[in-house]
Amino acid sequence: MFETIHELLPAVVNARPPRGLSFREQVRVNDGARGMAKKAVRKSSTAAKKAVSGPRKRSAKAQRERVLAIIDRLKAKFPVAECALTHRNEYELLAATILSAQCTDERVNMVTPELFAQYPTAQDLARASQEDVETIIRSTGFFRAKAENLRGMARCVVEKHGGRIPETLDELIQLPGVGRKTANVLLGTWHRIPSGVVVDTHVKRISRLLGLTTSESPEAIEQDLIKLLPKEEWIDFSHRLIHHGRQTCIARRPKCTDCVLIDLCDRVGLPSL
Ligand code: SF4
Repeated sequence: MFETIHELLPAVVNARPPRGLSFREQVRVNDGARGMAKKAVRKSSTAAKKAVSGPRKRSAKAQRERVLAIIDRLKAKFPVAECALTHRNEYELLAATILSAQCTDERVNMVTPELFAQYPTAQDLARASQEDVETIIRSTGFFRAKAENLRGMARCVVEKHGGRIPETLDELIQLPGVGRKTANVLLGTWHRIPSGVVVDTHVKRISRLLGLTTSESPEAIEQDLIKLLPKEEWIDFSHRLIHHGRQTCIARRPKCTDCVLIDLCDRVGLPSL
């Protein structure tokens, strides 16, 4: 008769107490009924808002199909999967990616025009003073370490690679300030070599929300995604997830009801809608 606790509450609260009771007893019955009904409503609301604790259990086949559906939806929404860091060549992309650590791409794009105007090549940057580079990149945060890394990277490129940015993961990760993520960005975005999956803060957060991984570290998440995604999607999946994280699946306020992935997403850690 009553489908939900919210339908039941008015009926309980407005119900007449049994006949033959004294006024005092009637008041006690009414108060008790109201108290119980309100408590039940509180309990049911809390249960409804309880966070989803982990990914739903699925067969390997169902998980594969879900991942392909997620890829298709993201492709339809973001047909062009581009790196958000402004660059004209591999040297600029590498330098911009080093600067993007703990910093937004928008902020990096504000400082790189001046950086590349002053130091258009790795040779120029290798000769730059620490102080001058720091002044230009100060607003990107961690500017001392980043300036050291940029100059160290440029020196290494000039001294060990004749001024050319290396094209293998092993050589790239030997450069100062270049880790696996930065190397994957360069190889994937510039050379279209799927050396791995770039896991930045958006990719980490949304992959966990979607229930594609339960891992914490970017390295472990990358390995989980490598197993799930077709290799030809490794590069663009990251770019699309980053765009999705900026537009819809925004940190701390994801717009789930506007999201193209709503029926495919486990929304791990979020309260049920
Ligand atoms: S449904 Fe919500 S949590 Fe899942 S991807 Fe979309 S916005 Fe993010």
